[in-house]
Amino acid sequence: MALIVQKYGGTSVGDAERIRAVARHVAETRARGNEVAVVVSAMGQFTDELIALADEVTPTRPAREMDMLLTAGERISMALVSMALGALDVGSASFTGSQAGIITDTTHMSAKILEMRPDRIREALALGLVPVVAGFQGVSTERDITTLGRGGSDVTAVALAHALGADVCEIYTDVTGVFSADPRVVPRARRLERVSFDEMLEMAATGGRVLMLRSVEFARRHGVPLHVRSSFTWEQGTWIVEEEPSMEEAIVSAITDDTSEAKITVGGVPDRPGVAATLFRALADAGINVDMIVQNVSAHNVTDISFTVAKTDLEPALAACTKVAEGIGATEVSSDDGIGRVSLVGAGMKSSPGVTALMFETLSAKGINIEMISTSSIRISCVVRAEKVADAVRSLHSAFGLDVP
Ligand code: ADP
Ligand code: ASP
Ligand code: MG
Repeated sequence: MALIVQKYGGTSVGDAERIRAVARHVAETRARGNEVAVVVSAMGQFTDELIALADEVTPTRPAREMDMLLTAGERISMALVSMALGALDVGSASFTGSQAGIITDTTHMSAKILEMRPDRIREALALGLVPVVAGFQGVSTERDITTLGRGGSDVTAVALAHALGADVCEIYTDVTGVFSADPRVVPRARRLERVSFDEMLEMAATGGRVLMLRSVEFARRHGVPLHVRSSFTWEQGTWIVEEEPSMEEAIVSAITDDTSEAKITVGGVPDRPGVAATLFRALADAGINVDMIVQNVSAHNVTDISFTVAKTDLEPALAACTKVAEGIGATEVSSDDGIGRVSLVGAGMKSSPGVTALMFETLSAKGINIEMISTSSIRISCVVRAEKVADAVRSLHSAFGLDVP
């Protein structure tokens, strides 16, 4: 008998019929002799709707109250899924993140899990019930309700799977697995049977939103087997696995796209030690994650520093830069939210020359200008105009032979 954690995303519980379908699948999984714990997201686009509603009331988004508001979405789904299970004579009980013992730090809207104490979930399983846990939420060490950041139900599922010692964590979503590119952007993308944790981390970090980055980090650190699959077709999906030395690595496994970032340029700064340190310390102290960084070659000892941040961090990032601009001798701080990023990910890249050349040639043949470049040993990313991103992804997908025939 296996213990399976099944996480259902927003589309998977999008309406009453979807909720009944989920309950039937849970019941079937149990009938095959498994124990099941369920994690659910808010129905459909409900989290976005709640955010829009809050913005109508006030645009200030007070973090503690936003968390209280947003966690309502997952509460609705957990109760309905539990009721649907009851209607199939499957004993079940729903639990908020707090009741499930998910203890977080006090950072509202992007809290980190500090400890898992899922005693009530274990008790429910021992009684033969299916616990249905609200994803995306926890309770802080200050006893306030917190959320784990957008897409955070994936983290709930992985953390719960680890805490319960589950045999597998199944992520049910609206696609049949992890694809060689977002199937919404590249209709000829192919489903990958297996993806290594390293590749999945790079994909999640560069726009492959099928799994939240932090859930992949957590799963790798704790060796939680992850299976991404469809709640519409229920077929076998994609397994995220440790790379096996015997695996022949694809040079390029996937192309990702991301238009969620903006670029900031701090111009006219003197090219001397300490300038970048001061600037990025100010950003770090404001709690801002910086992604790609480029410093221009200096002319007459003056240079420009450009970097990207999440669009949602643009305002506080600009404020942090403006605050230190004078002190570091910068003459201007500007921003550009019309950028997008396209990335190639592949574990075989590290031993294959020519990948970068083919990427640049492909973009150039399409007349797409590259504005910034960054690399890791298994990824190359280029910043281009946002409106060129879809074309870039499709061209690269063909150029690297990934299109389904
Ligand atoms: P859920 O609500 O189930 O968590 P998400 O919207 O967060 O679903 O993630 C699923 C979506 O991720 C898919 O609908 C797909 O458009 C998108 N996606 C982006 N990149 C990929 C990829 N490489 N493979 C599969 N899906 C991807
Ligand atoms: N409902 C939350 C969101 O939309 C969490 C999740 O779906 O994982 O971000
Ligand atoms: Mg998601």
